[in-house]
Amino acid sequence: MKIVFATSNPHKLKELKEIAASYGVDNIEFVLPPEDFNPIEDGKTFEENSLIKAKEANRVTGLPALADDSGLCVEALDGAPGIFSARYAQTPQQRIDKLLNELMPHKNRNAKFICAMTLVDGSGDILYACQGECRGSIAYKQAGSGGFGYDPVFLVSGKNGLTMAELSEEEKNEVSHRGRALRKVLDFIKNCTVG
Ligand code: IMP
Repeated sequence: MKIVFATSNPHKLKELKEIAASYGVDNIEFVLPPEDFNPIEDGKTFEENSLIKAKEANRVTGLPALADDSGLCVEALDGAPGIFSARYAQTPQQRIDKLLNELMPHKNRNAKFICAMTLVDGSGDILYACQGECRGSIAYKQAGSGGFGYDPVFLVSGKNGLTMAELSEEEKNEVSHRGRALRKVLDFIKNCTVG
């Protein structure tokens, strides 16, 4: 079975394939949408944006489509950068620098990653939608070189002061918002026939 994964982020596709393999799902071929795939993410929530991406990926390929929309929500910043995580500043390093700057006056460093996932069938109708969360806090300085995005400043709850970027890929997938959401999707897929 082929499912198009509505992303242009190769890190996300890699994570997705690893999680699916480690979860014993080997009958799905995840493929990417065409290179010019660039849906307008004008939803107001992670859920809305993941639905926009899934529907657009289905529209351009005719395949069942899975999309995620994810981001970092920081308590002291009223949930920012939230759905604007990818657009918070121009480069990944500038986004981290801006976050650390904004948080400078705050003692509360609590934060969470959120991932909304939506699976649509070959006609673009919603089959399943869910969310995964990963709780933690924002470090005072960055550490680690794994992962992507805000990983070097995200201290994962229960991981002894390690940032997400210091975890192995397997450890990240086990606790990450995307891992948690994807395992729910895979449970759903295991129990039904898509398309
Ligand atoms: P999306 O591709 O529209 O879902 O944007 C998600 C943005 O949130 C990314 O560009 C990152 O900045 C951030 N983000 C989402 N997931 C992660 C993660 O697992 N680690 C670090 N940053 C993430």
